[in-house]
Amino acid sequence: MESLLLNSVVSSHLHRLFYPTPHHTKQLIKPKPFISAAQFSTQNQQIMAKRIAVIGCGISGSVCASTLAKNGMSVTMFDQGRGPGGRMSQRREMIEDGKELMFDHGAPFFTITDNGVMDLVREWEQRGFVAEWKEKFGSFDYATAKFGEADSVFHLTHFFMEESTRKKYVGIPGMNSICKTLCNEPGVEPKFGVTVANVQWLEEKNLWSLIDLNGQALGHFDGLVASHNSIVNLWPSTGRKSPLDLTSFPELAVKLENIPAIPRFALMLAFPEHLSSIPVKGFSFKNSEVLSWAYCDSSKPGRSTRSECWVLHSTEDYARTIISQAGLQKPSNVLLTEVAEKMLNEFLRIDSHVPKPFFTRAHRWGGAFPATAVAEDEKCLWDASKKLAICGDFCVSPNVQGAVVSGVAAAAKFTLMSRV
Ligand SMILES: Cc1cc2nc3c(=O)[nH]c(=O)nc-3n(C[C@H](O)[C@H](O)[C@H](O)COP(=O)(O)OP(=O)(O)OC[C@H]3O[C@@H](n4cnc5c(N)ncnc54)[C@H](O)[C@@H]3O)c2cc1C
Repeated sequence: MESLLLNSVVSSHLHRLFYPTPHHTKQLIKPKPFISAAQFSTQNQQIMAKRIAVIGCGISGSVCASTLAKNGMSVTMFDQGRGPGGRMSQRREMIEDGKELMFDHGAPFFTITDNGVMDLVREWEQRGFVAEWKEKFGSFDYATAKFGEADSVFHLTHFFMEESTRKKYVGIPGMNSICKTLCNEPGVEPKFGVTVANVQWLEEKNLWSLIDLNGQALGHFDGLVASHNSIVNLWPSTGRKSPLDLTSFPELAVKLENIPAIPRFALMLAFPEHLSSIPVKGFSFKNSEVLSWAYCDSSKPGRSTRSECWVLHSTEDYARTIISQAGLQKPSNVLLTEVAEKMLNEFLRIDSHVPKPFFTRAHRWGGAFPATAVAEDEKCLWDASKKLAICGDFCVSPNVQGAVVSGVAAAAKFTLMSRV
């Protein structure tokens, strides 16, 4: 019940936060009359809480940042990656003849069940950076060597089920276009290639101080949004200390103690011709120990069709086996080549008419999906005294929708605080 109530609160905030009317904006800066001196001083401090740092330009951070900016705050975003997107990134590969290939090597699409998120996605569709991917989907069974209907329900992870018959949405021209657009909204300043290595709460100044990997100061901020669990947890693939020490936040620390991650390998393939023997543009595999899904990236709206580009996803078990042998450190080229060969050979087993690709590259996602949700009711974690929000798919559900809902909830914490 509480969860339902919060869902509707988040949903109704979604609209108000994204489309603040002048009236809403006014509310942010106009103190209400008849408040005590203590209340007034707290409120003044909150109203001044206008410079917010958002760590992570994935979808949760981007939605949060653009919402905060629309509500009058000045937002600086930091991401260790070369560009926005996180697990909705688009990979650009240049091949020998100077040809450029693009792959959505993380999330291939997303589906929506939440009405508030649907409103947002409709607005993104109208603005032209999201569209429905209206292709035929199915399944392939190695036991019968036949294509069949798409499963009405499939398991994306062991605890999350999604109907494959739902409308599928993609960013245009790449999955990262949504984050790219939101990170560049007025009031948001994104900084890429910056790993935030240390964040400190300066008690005497009431400010957050951020420092990068080289010890360079990144600035002081009134509020902080951490949009990935590695920011608050030791992330085994890097072995690096997490930037935010949660010892002064014992309640949050308990919730964030253990967030298991589900790994995947993605294989990017480019073919010189259409795969005419494959009757669908996306399909799941049955009876394969290696492959779970395949998607024809170049069949998505707004993509180049000069080459036929596909992305294959490994099974969780295959990825776990490889990682248990090789460790979680950055995979070597030799290892990625072996994985690419294994996944490709499995794909070519579908049919002898499938041509050989002219481009193959494997990518490892050590933490493709979180295997738990730490804030199903609240949708994000929040410390009001230090203006710290923690958001991301690991708070709600391991998908784009969960990350959007969490990013919106994190922004709502700051804006609601300003309205008290
Ligand atoms: C292979 C794969 C398939 C998927 N399939 C689907 C699907 O079909 N449908 C679906 O809805 N979802 C799918 N997902 C899941 C979906 O991509 C995620 O749920 C969603 O993108 C998570 O967004 P996020 O903002 O929570 O996290 P992220 O996208 O991970 O963003 C976090 C960002 O924080 C940055 N960061 C972390 N630490 C630091 C630091 N110290 N300093 C600076 N930056 C930092 C990271 O670089 C990253 O960009 C898939 C994911 C993968 C990998």
